[in-house]
This record gives sequence, C-alpha cells and structure tokens, in this order.
Amino acid sequence: MIVNNKLSCCEDDTHHDCNGILVKDKFDRPIISLRVSLTNRCNFNCIYCHHDGMLPSKSEMSPDEIFQILKIAKKFGIKKIRFSGGEPLLRDDIIDIIRKTSSLNFKDISITTNGVLLGKYAEDLLKAGLNRVNVSLDTLNHDTYNFITKGNYLNKVKSGILSCVDLGIHPIKINMVIIKGVNNNEVMNMFDFCKSNGLILQLIELMKADNKQIYDKYHFNMNFFEEKFEKMANEVKIRHFMQDRKKYYIDNGEIEIVKPMDNTKFCQNCTRLRITSEGNIKPCLLKNDNLVNIIEPIRNKLSENEIEKIFLKGVNNREPYYNQYPL
Ligand code: SAM
Ligand code: SF4
Repeated sequence: MIVNNKLSCCEDDTHHDCNGILVKDKFDRPIISLRVSLTNRCNFNCIYCHHDGMLPSKSEMSPDEIFQILKIAKKFGIKKIRFSGGEPLLRDDIIDIIRKTSSLNFKDISITTNGVLLGKYAEDLLKAGLNRVNVSLDTLNHDTYNFITKGNYLNKVKSGILSCVDLGIHPIKINMVIIKGVNNNEVMNMFDFCKSNGLILQLIELMKADNKQIYDKYHFNMNFFEEKFEKMANEVKIRHFMQDRKKYYIDNGEIEIVKPMDNTKFCQNCTRLRITSEGNIKPCLLKNDNLVNIIEPIRNKLSENEIEKIFLKGVNNREPYYNQYPL
C-alpha cells in the first residue's frame, strides 16, 4: 500500500525532510529502513553467525545495481539505509557504493562492520557520505575475542573504533551479542568503555541461526538486563519505530536492547526491509521462505515500472513472524 501522508511518514522517532510518500505493508507497518547485505564473504568466523556459504564476489550486486534498488527505495519513501554483510568492508568498491547512495539524499546512511578494516576506510567513508557506524564488539578480553570470532584482531578493531571517534562520526554504536557463560558478565565493563568514548552500547539477544546447539548452549535471557537497567536508568525510552526497542540512559551513557526472539512487539513495530547479497528482497529477518528476487529482473533489464512492482511484492510479503494473533 502506498500512502501519501506526511503525518504518518514523519512518525519515525526522528523528524526529517520527506516527500510525504511512504509504503506500508498489509499489517499497516510503514517501511522506513532498508538493510542491504553487500556480500556474504567474511574475514571472521563468529561462533553464532549464520553462514550461507561463500558467494563468489563476481555474483554480488554491483554498485550500479545497488543504486537502482536504492532509487526505488527512495521513491517509496525509505529514509534509512544500512549496509551489512558478511563483512561489508571487504567490498573494494565500498566507497563508490556509499558515494552513490549519498547522492540519493537519504536521511541516514550507516554500516555494520566487524571493524577490522575501519581504520583503513573510516575517513573515506565519511567523505563519501556515511553518517553512522555500528561496530560488532562482544568483548574487551583478548582470549574471549579470539574464542568468539576466531580472529586475533581486538586491538585493530578498538583502534578502528577510536579513529571513527576522532573523525567525529556520531553516533557510533557497539553491537554486543550476549553469549551465556562467555560475555554476559562483561556488560558493565563494556558500558564503561563505551561511556568513556562517547559510544552507544547495543546489547543483542543471540538469535537462532542454523546451529540449534549454539543457541541452546549460549542463549541468554535478556530480561535480566532489562530488569537491571530499569533500576539503574535515569530515563528509559521506547523506540516505537525501531521494533519497540528499549533505550536506557544511565550516568551519561546509553544502552539499547535488541530482543527479537519470541517478541511480538519487535515484529509489530518492525519497519525494516532487507536485501540479501544475492539480490533477493528479504521481507523478514527471521524467515527465508518468502524472498523475492529483484536482481535477475534488473540484470534482464526489465522496465523501471516492472522492477518497482517486484519491490512492492517484497513489501507485500511482509508478515510479523511472532504475531499476537495467529495469521
Ligand atoms: N560482519 C559485520 C559485523 O559483524 O558487524 C556485519 C554482519 S553481522 C551478520 C551483523 C550483526 O549481526 C553483527 O552485530 C553480529 O554480531 C550480529 N549477529 C550475527 N549472528 C547473530 C546471531 N546469531 N544472533 C544475534 N546477532 C547476530
Ligand atoms: Fe558473521 Fe559479522 Fe562475525 Fe562475519 S564478522 S562471522 S558476518 S557476525
């Protein structure tokens, strides 16, 4: 459903310049952000990560193909673009991709990265138009870091983060996946590191990937942190247009909790559409059986109108994974 409605378009938790158009799915959820996976290649092998197998880099979407998808996203009122992967900084055309994206005047362009190559790219990313960065950092302990990522890069990642701080990139978020018995006792230590460098800490609930054993062994119930921070916080905000995430303000620091598992509110308030590195529209983080391929039609040079219809089919396939009411 395409809606021409300035008011609902601006119900996002930040105000912005918009053309009044937005697209909503069948469940009346506006689509505000698009997360684009640029590659499924990675230089890490994190214990919890879902690995799809390595797609040869020549099959990845080109900067021009990505630009074509983003142009449609812009036309349908999407405000925020986040690039992810795999590891997005493994793309040697990453600066070109950010520059092209920036020319479309989205409200916000961000990247999620493991941070190893941040030191190398941060300045050029900023110049190309990147607004924000999320860096995955689950621990500040070297042994634990090596255990989780199978890579000995903690110092390099920390210095990449600090180079973003020096460049004035803001906000910088630290993504910390909570892994039971591995890093759940390190949260306050990580929070101190974040506070002292002006970073926002984002605690992420471990999700079920392919490996059920990993989930069963390491899943940690995030209610523990919600209850703890509720008592400590000077202020708590609920980010309605960001999956109803809770954000806690504690002693001049900020902690946000991302809790997707068994969470109907997360789904009810999800405003995000995804594009996989293979060029499929992925309507839901937790589902893979409703993908819509958009890259083949682009490669086969279908008309803009046909490709827009395919984009809207992806939107139309969105259904809350955890629903209060059975579908
Ligand atoms: N390689 C980049 C990175 O690690 O930041 C971007 C891709 S990674 C898939 C994006 C985010 O998903 C990271 O913050 C990572 O920690 C998180 N992630 C991966 N697998 C997860 C899982 N099973 N549960 C929760 N978060 C996960
Ligand atoms: Fe997965 Fe990111 Fe870790 Fe790579 S760095 S294995 S993509 S979580």
